[in-house]
Amino acid sequence: MQTFVTHLECSLTGERYPADRVHGLSASGKPLLVRYDLDAMAEVLEREEVSRREGGFWRYREFLPVRFDANVVALGEVTTPLIRLPSFEENDELWVKDEGRLPTGSFKARGLALAVAMARELGLKHLAMPTNGNAGAALAAYAAKAGLRATVLCPADTPEINIRETSELGARVFRVNGLINDCGRIVGERAQDQGWFDLSTLKEPYRIEGKKTMGLELAQQFDWQLPDAIFYPTGGGTGLIGMWKAFAELEALGWIDSRRPKMFAVQAEGCAPIVRAFAAGKEFAEPWQDAQTMAAGIRVPAAVGDFLILRAVRESGGAALAVSDEDIIAARSQVASVEGTLLCPEGAATFVAWRQAKAAGLLDEGSRSLLFNCATGLKYPLTDHSTMLD
Ligand SMILES: *Cc1c(COP(=O)(O)O)cnc(C)c1O
Repeated sequence: MQTFVTHLECSLTGERYPADRVHGLSASGKPLLVRYDLDAMAEVLEREEVSRREGGFWRYREFLPVRFDANVVALGEVTTPLIRLPSFEENDELWVKDEGRLPTGSFKARGLALAVAMARELGLKHLAMPTNGNAGAALAAYAAKAGLRATVLCPADTPEINIRETSELGARVFRVNGLINDCGRIVGERAQDQGWFDLSTLKEPYRIEGKKTMGLELAQQFDWQLPDAIFYPTGGGTGLIGMWKAFAELEALGWIDSRRPKMFAVQAEGCAPIVRAFAAGKEFAEPWQDAQTMAAGIRVPAAVGDFLILRAVRESGGAALAVSDEDIIAARSQVASVEGTLLCPEGAATFVAWRQAKAAGLLDEGSRSLLFNCATGLKYPLTDHSTMLD
């Protein structure tokens, strides 16, 4: 299979790095981005051809860095459905992209499928990372299939189902008395003597390439007309940055025009470093102290790609919004009981943010908005609405 990778590039300085080598962060400690020969790709690939292909994100093979098909690790990836929520619409459109249908029940499958395939291609043997739950499970699954070892460190209060799932899938799991950045620090410190490769999000260059496929896929699903607004539950921000990269690549290919959705980074009130930096007009975000929220996937006090999230949000004319756990829980029940779609807490957070944005006049009349339900709602503790009948 042909790949169009030319090199990697520091996301802050633009400094170039060769492809086909093992890389972590750039010399300035920032994420590396994969670059492609998009002119060459435009000559041989048409969007209609990609649309005709079967299956999930591997259909965007040319947009991805894996050189040899034998390194692709597949677990039955599907194109995740778009579900419309008409009950909540006024003179606008509201859609959910339901990522809970992917292997291991979350969109982390996209990133880890790519990271594991590239690890295999580059000859790595033992992968390790910090996780709030879903990334660990996805790593465990793809590593198991690829025959690689996986070690995962998670906060001790990570949802129990994620911890059990991850160890059932063959990874070694450590519960850490701390938050995800504490887990990340331990992975970084111990990587060398343990023989681990650090797969922390954005600290290696390929998870973002997998997450990028969300942007490619939704462009295709909306017939190459991007929605007017995207609400993204933002932890490390990999998906938001990845989609922003995908849109630039699609435009360079001439597959979409220069219009972009307003990108909304959604965080929890108890952990909102990006929202605080956005409001203060800062380029980088200060780490959040005492992070707390039931939406585990977005309990990320510090993100190495903070400036990339903030840049995309600002360039798009979007905003960073914080929502309360109370509103998340209420929204989850409301959407589930009215529309039959059980969102995960992070997905419900995007619904709350959409309402906030509308109330604050941040969306144009008639806007088509897209929410991300990033994981299956079944992975989280649910409210008991039942009545005991003796
Ligand atoms: C990882 C995760 C997020 C955050 O995704 P990023 O791209 O890292 O910001 C949100 N929700 C859930 C359920 C997650 O697992």
